[in-house]
Amino acid sequence: MNSFITLMYHNVTPNGAEYSDLSPSVTAYFVDQRTFSAHLLEVCQRGHCVDTKAIAGFYQQKSVNVPDVLTLVQVTFDDGWAGSYETAGPILETHGCQGLLFVTTDLIGSRHCVSLNDLKRIDPVVMTIGSHAKTHRFLNRMSESEIREELSFSKSHLEDAVGYEVDTLSIPGGAIDERVRKIASDVGYRFVYTSETYANTRHRGSLNIGRIAIKNTTTIDDVRRYVKGDLRKERLRRGLLSIPKRLLGQHGYHALRRRVLREAESQEEMVDLSGAQVS
Ligand SMILES: [Zn+2]
Repeated sequence: MNSFITLMYHNVTPNGAEYSDLSPSVTAYFVDQRTFSAHLLEVCQRGHCVDTKAIAGFYQQKSVNVPDVLTLVQVTFDDGWAGSYETAGPILETHGCQGLLFVTTDLIGSRHCVSLNDLKRIDPVVMTIGSHAKTHRFLNRMSESEIREELSFSKSHLEDAVGYEVDTLSIPGGAIDERVRKIASDVGYRFVYTSETYANTRHRGSLNIGRIAIKNTTTIDDVRRYVKGDLRKERLRRGLLSIPKRLLGQHGYHALRRRVLREAESQEEMVDLSGAQVS
């Protein structure tokens, strides 16, 4: 098998009503449990769900014992929302799939987020824990020492909670550059997940793992296309989005996006959190 795809979820909700206090730009990336079940069924019927061990083996050139016709699919969740564990966990277990949950450590125990006790309880066979940094700020805007602090603090904090090595990192806001990537590798991350959209090959390397963002508008036909390896529509969309981002810079882009969405300034914090979901 020469490539795998990684799906980027954020939260799975029983019915969505309990998140009515959050900005629509955040909840646009939440899917309900029926939809998530349907996605996993599609993944398992037409592809093959892979765990972190299989991904490590993939980069070590080990063969994955899967028929060549099936696409390898990894399922990830960003931020550390409680529903990604409480609601998605049992569904993953039913399908024999493993999720990879990236937790922002400053959000642990916050409203709607996983608690420290949750992290201690989560069975790593069903859901492995990775880091989504400490504060969720854009890493590429920080000094070298700040980046190091964000990445090493979150790594050791999570390792203390779960009792195993945390060597996977998802970049908040997709805000990565070569400096961030090198520091991540220096502090011990072997697998770095971005928000770029492509199928992952060994050539791109394990510090550059692309993902496909799943939104509440993602259809089952979209998931079917992803499992077939057809990402043309999403790559085109990302290409178009990158034009205003390049022209305005990251901050200007998110300010523009807020204005377009007519969101109140009081929601800025949560909108900023959602940066990961569009970047
Ligand atoms: Zn995020």
